[in-house]
Amino acid sequence: MKDSYGREINYLRVSITDRCNLRCRYCMPEEGIRKVEHYSILSLEEIARLVRVASSLGIRKVRLTGGEPLIRKNIVQLVGDIASLPEIDDLALTTNGMLFNSMACDLQKAGLKRVNFSMDTMVAEKFKYITRGGDLEKVSTAIFKALELGMEPVKINTVIIRGFNDSEIMDFADLVYQYPLHIRFIEFMPVGDLFYWKPERVMQVDEIKTRIEQEYELYEGSKIEGNGPAKYYHMRKGKGTIGFISPMSNHFCASCNRIRMTADGSLRGCLYEKAEINLKSALLAGAGEDELRELFLKTIVNKAPRHQMNSGWGSDNKRMMYQIGG
Ligand code: SAM
Ligand code: SF4
Repeated sequence: MKDSYGREINYLRVSITDRCNLRCRYCMPEEGIRKVEHYSILSLEEIARLVRVASSLGIRKVRLTGGEPLIRKNIVQLVGDIASLPEIDDLALTTNGMLFNSMACDLQKAGLKRVNFSMDTMVAEKFKYITRGGDLEKVSTAIFKALELGMEPVKINTVIIRGFNDSEIMDFADLVYQYPLHIRFIEFMPVGDLFYWKPERVMQVDEIKTRIEQEYELYEGSKIEGNGPAKYYHMRKGKGTIGFISPMSNHFCASCNRIRMTADGSLRGCLYEKAEINLKSALLAGAGEDELRELFLKTIVNKAPRHQMNSGWGSDNKRMMYQIGG
C-alpha cells in the first residue's frame, strides 16, 4: 500500500508493552513513569488480529518492540501467531537482551527470525550506569546465543553519546571485524525524557565514520537483510558490518516504509508524528475487519512526508519513545 508520497508502506513496528526492566538514561526517567493501565493495553489476541488486518493491506514485515518486549507474558505465543500469517515474511524483535537467553530457543521455534540487541557500551560498569542497573554479561551472552542459533543477521544498536561511549567506537568496530555481527551506530535523538539529552552529546554519523576509517577501510557492499534506515558498510576482511542511522544529520524519510502501533493500540505514521488513531477503542466498540482496515489506511494516507526531529520533541507530544516503541 502506497502513502500519499508514493512510499510503499510494508513494515509495522508494534510496541507490545510500554514497561521495561531497565531504565536507560536517554530513554526513560528513573521514577514517575506514567504506565498505561492494563485494561487499555491491547491483548495479545488483539495484537495478532490487528497484524492480520495490516497484512491484508500489504504489511510484510513486523518488528516487536517496546518498552521491553520480552517482559510481556506469552510473547512466544504471539510470535507464533504472527509468524503463521502467510503474508508476513519477516518477523523480528528489538530487545535489551536481559531475558533473551532462556527464551531464545522457544522464540526461534515459534518463528522469530531475527533480533536486534541494544548495547551502548562494552564496559560492565558503564553499562550498569547507562541502563541504571543492567547486566552487560546478559546482553553479550544473548548476542552470541542468537549467533549460535543462526538468527542472522544479528544486529546491535548502539546510541553514541559524546563523552560517554564515543571512546569505544573503535572497540565496537573491532568486535564486528572479528564476529559476523552488524552494528548500527545511532545518533542520539531528543526523544521523550530530555533530562539526559544535550545537543553537545550528539555525535553525527559522519564523525563516527571518520573515526573508524582511521583504522578500517569501509566500503558499500551487499545489503543486510531487514535494511531499514541504516546505511551499511563492510570492512576489508571483516566478518560483520557497520551501519549508521542518522535521524539528526540526514533524515531518511524519503525511503520510509513503516508505521507504528503502540501498546494501547494507537497507530502513528511516524515516531515524531503526534496525530494518532486509536484502534483499542474501535475494538471495544466492536469494529469489524473493514473498519479496522480503514483506520490503517487512514494512518498510511496521512503519513507525514518527513519527521521534524531537529525541532525537538515538543511539549505537546504526549508520549515518550518507550511509549511509542523504539
Ligand atoms: N527495550 C528494547 C531495547 O532497548 O532494545 C526495545 C525498545 S528501545 C526504546 C529501542 C531502541 O531505541 C533501542 O535500541 C534504544 O537504544 C533506542 N533509543 C531509545 N532512546 C533513544 C534516543 N534518545 N536516541 C536514540 N536511540 C534511542
Ligand atoms: Fe528500556 Fe529499551 Fe528504553 Fe532501555 S532503551 S529503557 S531497555 S525501552
